[in-house]
Amino acid sequence: RAPNWLHVRMAPLLDAHVLVLVDDRTSAHRVEEVRRDFVVNVSHELKTPVGGLSLLAEAIADARDDPEAVERFASRIQLESARLGKLIKEIVDLSRLQSADGLTEARRVRIADVVREAIEISQVEAQAKDIRIVERVDPATVVDGDLSLLVTAVRNLIGNAISYSPAGTEVGIGAAIGADAVTITVTDHGRGIPPAEQERIFERFYRGDAARSRATGGTGLGLAIVKHICANHGGGVSVWSREGQGSTFTIRLPLPEARITISHPVEGNA
Ligand code: ADP
Repeated sequence: RAPNWLHVRMAPLLDAHVLVLVDDRTSAHRVEEVRRDFVVNVSHELKTPVGGLSLLAEAIADARDDPEAVERFASRIQLESARLGKLIKEIVDLSRLQSADGLTEARRVRIADVVREAIEISQVEAQAKDIRIVERVDPATVVDGDLSLLVTAVRNLIGNAISYSPAGTEVGIGAAIGADAVTITVTDHGRGIPPAEQERIFERFYRGDAARSRATGGTGLGLAIVKHICANHGGGVSVWSREGQGSTFTIRLPLPEARITISHPVEGNA
């Protein structure tokens, strides 16, 4: 596949010679472009919540004589600042992941540990919606990677599965070691994702129509973070979904490096 920053323009000349102009924008340029786009995205995304907070502060000043309204606006300010804090944390995480070229240190990680931690973090949200998390993890599944990044990736997928599913449904988590990859799957029986949106959900700040119209909500960064965590592990993430039936997100990671264990012969009584 040709890199998209390599433009080749061909200008046929009169005598059938061909002039080829090669505009090879280096990867440094490309990185700079991505960084600039990111800054533009971020400032745009931060403007909305900051503007909201400022309006709420004005509303409090105006409602000074109405203690109930003051209390209502104050709790909205608390909620909005918590969301802003989450957004800033995710922006920092994503920017670190985008600039990292692989992992600095990979250790042997048991996927059962990753899944257990991710479920623990998601339990409060799951219980609030009476959603049962069912785990089918082959205990032999291991990868070479970063435990806390992998927990973040699985946690983001579980968080979405809970957010976009009706109360009382089930979320399934599976993990297995296959012939050419380790796979981790998160399946929900929620509203599903229309085909046109499936192509875009891994873009940073992209939110589906239904998600955007919800009062409470995420940041649009969760899946971009999952994508970059997988890429830094040399793997990837994909989605299968059918509207009205649910979705399955699959993380694929490289098989762990074979480890040579040297077994020493048992020495006789020396
Ligand atoms: P958000 O903070 O909006 O959840 P994400 O990056 O995690 O951001 O997801 C991007 C979009 O993908 C969401 O806004 C939603 O439209 C869609 N999406 C993600 N996971 C699911 C899911 N399990 N079921 C349905 N839609 C989903």
